[in-house]
Formats: sequence, structure tokens, C-alpha cells
Amino acid sequence: MQDRVIIPLEEFPEEGVFIEGEADGALFGIDHTGAQSIGPLTYSLEAQLYETELVVRGSISAPFLLRCDRCLREFEYTVAIDGLTISCDVKGKAVADVTEELREEVLLELPGYPKCEISGLECEINDTFCDFRLDKDPHSGVNSATPSGNSVWDALDDFPRK
Ligand SMILES: [Zn+2]
Repeated sequence: MQDRVIIPLEEFPEEGVFIEGEADGALFGIDHTGAQSIGPLTYSLEAQLYETELVVRGSISAPFLLRCDRCLREFEYTVAIDGLTISCDVKGKAVADVTEELREEVLLELPGYPKCEISGLECEINDTFCDFRLDKDPHSGVNSATPSGNSVWDALDDFPRK
């Protein structure tokens, strides 16, 4: 599999160029516990040349294995960007290598503190131990960290005062 995304510029057609394909996910350089590339960068791009500026529009996606910051469960998450626009100066170049630009776009979309929810999963920590989601009704029969009507600070009132 190719590991670069390259657009040839010689005899560039006036109507533009359409390229699509896959590039090896190794280009992301993300391969550690907590965030791991598990598939190729898939791209579908349209390129237009305006004198020395190449404008590239389209969509890209890439799958990753992330680890939930809260419950440490690993889950798959695909970064998908539609309506992507990048531009680069290609003055004097025979080809435009847009790999780095695409890589950066994907990395920017990777969550810094991944949670199960971004992949549509229920986080076990939320359901088993405590409820961080304020819009969710506490389970009946389970003591919530913040019983309704009481402030968490009310518990301090129970401490003996001097
Ligand atoms: Zn989780």
C-alpha cells in the first residue's frame, strides 16, 4: 500500500483532478497504548490548480483504537472529515505531496481525552460507579453522589462543630 498521497501537477487539467484511494495508516505515526492507528487513511479528493496554489477539497477518514480515559476500555473510533479544504504552494513542483496536510487534519480531530461516548458506547464507569452526566436520572435504589435537593456540601453539616 502506498504511504503517501501525491497529486501529479504536470499537464494538470483545467477542470481539475480527482483522486481517491488508501494510504498506509503508518503515516500517522500513532502506535501506542491509548491511541493506535488500525487502518488506512481513506481519501476522496478533488484538486484544482490556481497558478501556483493547489486547492484540495474532499473527504478523508481513518480508524483508530482509542482507550477510554475514564474506564480504560479500548474501542474503535473512526475520524471522518467531510468538506475538507487544504491549500498548498506548489510553485516549481512536479508533484504535490499532501500527506502531511492530511495527517495533520486527522490528528486535530483525534480527541485528546477519549471517552466511550464518542463511539456511541456506554461508559462503564458512568453506569457502575457514579453518574457524571447531570441530565441522566439516577438509578432508583442507587445512592447518587448528589441526592436531589441536597448540595454535596450538606454532608459537611453532619461533622461535629466546635
Ligand atoms: Zn469508558
